[in-house]
Amino acid sequence: MQRRATRRLNTQPATRYLGEPEGTRIADWLNAAGKREEKRRFISLLDHLKGFAIDLRRGVARFVGPDGAMKLNGILSGYSYRLSFVSDPDELFKLAVIPTAPARGNARSVTTEAMMVNLLMFDLWRLGRVDRIRQCQQCGRWLFARLAHHRYCPGTDCARKSNEAKPSFKARRRAYMRRYYAAKLSAGSRSKRSGVRKSK
Ligand SMILES: [Zn+2]
Repeated sequence: MQRRATRRLNTQPATRYLGEPEGTRIADWLNAAGKREEKRRFISLLDHLKGFAIDLRRGVARFVGPDGAMKLNGILSGYSYRLSFVSDPDELFKLAVIPTAPARGNARSVTTEAMMVNLLMFDLWRLGRVDRIRQCQQCGRWLFARLAHHRYCPGTDCARKSNEAKPSFKARRRAYMRRYYAAKLSAGSRSKRSGVRKSK
């Protein structure tokens, strides 16, 4: 059977950038259409975790505060799940997360997909890469930043466009054009004085 040959155990290929497989899947999910409510919840949790990460790095509790862990646990209590092995067209024995109805209060309906994306986010948290899930500063699409300073979609001209829209760039460009035209004008008046005519 053709299909059988393409089904395989997930063998996690070695990647150069820590967290990239997880981060790319999260970014793809966030960029896909629909599921607005689930995404809103996800992004709120992501923002909390990012604030936490910044606090931890600086050794202060500024963003999340001393009650941060409790607050996070409150959000997490809305996610209730069990683990199960499933088989899908791409992978045999895939460990999946099956949402279960929370016991009380806080109940939310969470899809399997949203649950998986949340778990990927916790993987990134463990790897210290949760802050690499970002929105492009030019077009707003989500991306996984391979390096800490990356701010724009990779492989697009978002970085160039953003740079050109900056006031400093515009000012430099204006100054350059002024000098350019001034030089052109003076060259023109010099050639007029010496009687040289420019052909049209
Ligand atoms: Zn972009």
